[in-house]
Formats: sequence, structure tokens, C-alpha cells
Amino acid sequence: MTWKRPLLVYPYSPDKKSEQLYGGLAIINPIGLEIVATALKPAVEDLRLVDMRLEKRPLEDLVREFRPDMIAVSLMWGRDDYSDALIHNLPRDTTLVVGGLYATRHADEMVEALPEMDILAIGYGDETLPRLIEHGSPEGVAGFWYRDRATAYPPDRRKPRASKARPDETGRGTRLSETAAHLIKNPLYPGRTIDHLHIDRSIRRYDYPWLTLKGDNVITSVGCPMVCAFCKWRENIFGEAQPWIGREAEDVVAELEETDADIVHIVDANFAADAERVERICDLLIQRDVRHLYACEIRVNPLYKNARLVRKMEQAGFFMFMVGLESYQPHLLKAMRKGYTVKMARKAFEHLRETKILTLGNFLIGNPGETEDQMLGIADYAAELGVDFISPNKIYAYEDTDFERWVLSQPGMKVAGRRRYVVSDSCSLEDLRRIQAGIMLRFLRKHPPTIPYRKALAHPMVRKIGREKVRRAMLRSLWNHVSDVTFRRRAVKKLVKYFRRPSRAAAV
Ligand code: SF4
Repeated sequence: MTWKRPLLVYPYSPDKKSEQLYGGLAIINPIGLEIVATALKPAVEDLRLVDMRLEKRPLEDLVREFRPDMIAVSLMWGRDDYSDALIHNLPRDTTLVVGGLYATRHADEMVEALPEMDILAIGYGDETLPRLIEHGSPEGVAGFWYRDRATAYPPDRRKPRASKARPDETGRGTRLSETAAHLIKNPLYPGRTIDHLHIDRSIRRYDYPWLTLKGDNVITSVGCPMVCAFCKWRENIFGEAQPWIGREAEDVVAELEETDADIVHIVDANFAADAERVERICDLLIQRDVRHLYACEIRVNPLYKNARLVRKMEQAGFFMFMVGLESYQPHLLKAMRKGYTVKMARKAFEHLRETKILTLGNFLIGNPGETEDQMLGIADYAAELGVDFISPNKIYAYEDTDFERWVLSQPGMKVAGRRRYVVSDSCSLEDLRRIQAGIMLRFLRKHPPTIPYRKALAHPMVRKIGREKVRRAMLRSLWNHVSDVTFRRRAVKKLVKYFRRPSRAAAV
């Protein structure tokens, strides 16, 4: 006898800002939890996945209706008041498992802050949870810490509940902190495969929007072979460098054929690390006439090498590339270990300009020695390349990295705040925010949004799936954005700060 009815919960509030991509233009499905559900499904009688960002019904109604024997909560992006309250209010006679990226990296905090938690799943849940279910208890199963108490076991192995214990002040039963059991720490399970990345979409109960159209997100590879100095994205759940592993092109295309979304976001850290695989994916998509608009992060390297591949990606439906351009100064690209030169970036955009693929250029500002004029020059460089949208971000330096050491070895440089932004004696965080606004304004003057608007409508896949549908979606998204009070408030604040500065005219 083991658990048969797990309820998987993504415990973030609809208002959590970090859960809304690109200022609310998209919501990403809880892909990690969907992968866990895909791996668990064959091992249980039934399961349900609840995404609190989109769920309309109270969680207690769903619990009452589904009657789970295990509730697994995925803490990917940290704890907050909402997720804490949700966990504290879960029924206490059901095994509570907590896991996810944040839970793995902050295991001691989980034990301390969540006395209700019976089992802590450390590492990849799609690797560990099926083994827990198979075994029927966390005893001796690698990848789990658990409290040695009845609720850590499946229904038939539970000891009688602590019914004699005093109810707590809420009257809901035993205070778990009073009955805190001995914590048992099994060894880690460091495994990482790509076996469950092809999501079983029958478990999904919500629609995820992208630009007001129906969206979906897929993961086709893990890890990254590049070594950018500031990056932690290529790390695995344990904070170690993850070698790049890609799914077979055939399997990726089979998943893309299964989704009915208009826009599919490929969430890989480095989708095109293997250009031959990308070409094979495109060939299959074209052959089978699979119709979606694809968005992905992509590096300069595959784009500059092969103009034919770029055109094929356009034909297959690639609609938006997010490109980590970071800087136009050779010495900074070198310091960031980006692995490409300005010449390569220019070549890549020469190829992109022959297509209707939209591009978002990500830049990092505030590097050691970078002047305000040089940062503002990003707008000129991006417009010259033909980038359609830009995102100038403040550079950050993670603790105890070569990049942080390099930053701190430069005169006057510091690392500030929780997000570890790089600042200097002559350029504060406030200055960087003002410069960000300056770059955006300067770019918009040179490359107005009408250019990407027209380009998007001329994209071959947009013509296939319906220009009018995409046009309406873009205008609706724009309207939603500008009519959003928070967006307007922030935009006005930025503009006021920017125009208030006396030396602005000289700087621009
Ligand atoms: S290419 Fe992207 S994911 Fe890879 S190391 Fe560089 S920033 Fe990180």
C-alpha cells in the first residue's frame, strides 16, 4: 500500500510579480511541476495539479473534492506570505511533501519554517517522487529528508493521529511544532535525466496566455555549454554546472504537435546549442506543417554561422528571439566571457534582417569602467543592428564567483542589495535606473514600435495562422499594458526621474 492520489500544488498568488513574464504579457505554466506530474502519473491511480495563480476555486474545496492522500507543494521561487499561509492551512492528516528549486537550495529553512512538512524532496522531483511512491515510505530512499512521524507514511502505515494533543489557538488540531519529530536525512539523489520533459498535457487544467493568445511552454534541453561569467542559469537544481543535454528532435516535434497553443515559448537556457538538432526540428515542423509561433532565448553564435538555418527557423514558425547581446564593447564581452565578438553579433543580425523574426536584445549596464554615454550608446547600437525591442538590465554579480572577484578588483566598484547589482562610487543604483529609462527613450526614437508591428504581421507563420488574429492580439496586449495602473505609474515615475536630471541634455 502506498500513496495513490497525489495533489500537486503550485503555491503562488495571482499577484506575484515575478510570475508574470514581460510585465504580464505571458504566464508560464509550472513546467517543473508538470514534469513531476508526468513522471508520477503512471505510478498512481489519479493525480491533480493545481496552479494557484489561475485557480478560481478555493484550495480547500479542491482538496475536499479530490481527497488526496499526499499533497506535494513546489517551492520554486521562494516563500512569501501567500505560500506560507497556503501551506499552514493544508489538512494535517495528509502527507505533506515540499520540494522544488528553492526548497532544495534552502533545505534547513524549510525544516525550520514549515513544521507541517512531513517530507522534504531534495533535487528533481521527477527523479525522486516516483521512487518514493514505489517504495511506500521515505525510509532509506535517497533524495528525501523526513520527520519520523506518522504523517510521513502512506495511509495504512500511519500511527493513530495525536488526537489527545491539545488543539492550537486556531482550534484546528495539534500544533506541529509541539510534536516536532526527529528529522531523518537520507543521502541526496543527484540524478538528472531528460526522460520526463515531454509533458503529458492531459494533466493540465488551465489556459496559459501569451500576448492574449493561447500559450504553452516546452523544455527541449537542459544546461548550457557556454560559460558566461555572470550566469547561474546554466546551473542545475543543486547549483552545479549542468552539461547541455538535448531531447531528440523527433520527440520535441511530437510534443509540439500535441499542443493547441498559438504561441509556444521554448524555455531552454540554450535551445540552439546543437544547431544540427535545431535544423532537424525545423525540417520536421515544416514537413508536418505544424503551425505555431515560437519564441526562444538564442545566442549569437548559431545565428551568425548559418544564414540558411535562420531562414529555416523563420519558415518553421520561429517568431521571436530573445538574444543575450549584453554589450557592444569588446573588452566587456570578453570580461563577461560571452564567447562571441561584436563582429559576430553584426553578422548574426545581418542574417536576421533578411527575415521577419522579431528580436529582443538583452543588455547589461553598469559594468566596471562603463560611462553613462557608453551605456546610452546601447540604444544606437541596438537600432543599428535592427533589434526590435531592448531590455537594458542592471548587471549583477553572484557571490563568490570569478565575475564578482573581477568586479570588486576594479577601482570604486561595489555590489549592492539583495540582487547584488554592480554599482560604483560614481554610478549609484538610482543613476542606473535613470540611465535605463534614457536608453529606452533613445531607442524608441530611433526604432519606433511600428517597425516590429509591421514586421510581425508579415511573418510567414503569422500569415498562415491568421494576420487578423495576431494583429488583434498584439493591439489587445498593448492596450492591457498601457491601461494597467501599475505600468502607467511606473512609466511616469521613470520619465519624471529622467527629465528632472539637469545634465540629461548633455548626456544624450
Ligand atoms: S549562454 Fe546563457 S545560459 Fe549559457 S552561460 Fe551564457 S548566459 Fe548562461
